[in-house]
Amino acid sequence: MRRVVVYPGRIAVETAEVPAPGPNEALVRTLAVGVCGSDLHAARGSHPFVPLPYRPGHEVVGVIEAAGPAAGAWTPGQRVIVEPDLPCWTCKMCTSGRENLCENLQFFGCGYAQGGMADYFTVAANRLHPVPDVLDDHTAALIEPLSTPVHAVRLAGDVAGRSVAVLGAGTIGLLTLAVLRAHGAGMVVSTDPNLAKRERAAALGAGATIDARSPDVAGQVRQVLGGSADIVFDCVSVQSSLDQAIAIADKGGTVMVVGVPAREVTVPLPIVQDHQIRIQGSATYLPPDYAESADLLRRGAVRAADFVTAVRPLAQVAEAFELASSGQHVKVLVSVGEPTQVRG
Ligand SMILES: [Zn+2]
Ligand SMILES: [Zn+2]
Repeated sequence: MRRVVVYPGRIAVETAEVPAPGPNEALVRTLAVGVCGSDLHAARGSHPFVPLPYRPGHEVVGVIEAAGPAAGAWTPGQRVIVEPDLPCWTCKMCTSGRENLCENLQFFGCGYAQGGMADYFTVAANRLHPVPDVLDDHTAALIEPLSTPVHAVRLAGDVAGRSVAVLGAGTIGLLTLAVLRAHGAGMVVSTDPNLAKRERAAALGAGATIDARSPDVAGQVRQVLGGSADIVFDCVSVQSSLDQAIAIADKGGTVMVVGVPAREVTVPLPIVQDHQIRIQGSATYLPPDYAESADLLRRGAVRAADFVTAVRPLAQVAEAFELASSGQHVKVLVSVGEPTQVRG
């Protein structure tokens, strides 16, 4: 079988043995897999937790080929999506229903021995979710990336009617915007330095968009919102975006840190304390977030046509990474096997 390996400065498609499932695992044949912003970080060597080389692919849809004797009742042919967190299930976080924060967490497709950019892979079967029949493969590939903002919006609390800013209109920023709209948020302002991305945000329902490079971004956002934001989603997580987020949330607001920071940033702690600003990290997702994502996609609250802007076959995976890095695309998918007919 073919398997993608990312080396410093090079993305290779290599030949490997089809893996055999362990007792608790399933063997999955890949259908489609997304290129994530974190894959681009990792390929550049700038992901804080993914050393090179690595085997990418965590936004993966496939078909059950076989399952180990203790893997549960899986039928070959069942379409599945991977929940790529690989928790230990025994630590304090795992035993309190927060396995996304597992103290011994491994992550399929991010520093793990296998990823989904391969013809086949094996993974713990309890990390698989059946894909609803009505979702086509490309739509199903959005369940994982959509679950990240679903989780962040859930952690932020009730967003209905609230004034919100979303910093960054890349994939996660746009998906966050879509989730906020589905949850009945009030005015949502999007910022991004890229005009095409701001136009996408406007088309997806942002009440206003602001160039993230313009002077006094925070002042402009506050002017549009008529005051501070109740919640700011920082989907960029660099020094300038965090500074803007705190200024927009000031006073008394919440800053959700959703983007993966490539490096440490400085926090104006006197302001955070004195102005009672809440800074809340958000890390991946839990099964209820997967369920809500599938539901949002089924209801059409998020449409694959708005997000999947390019698809390349596995043999052209390097081009898929280039396209994803270009700033011209929202979600780039790699198609691996023959697409499944949608039955719904
Ligand atoms: Zn991802
Ligand atoms: Zn654990």
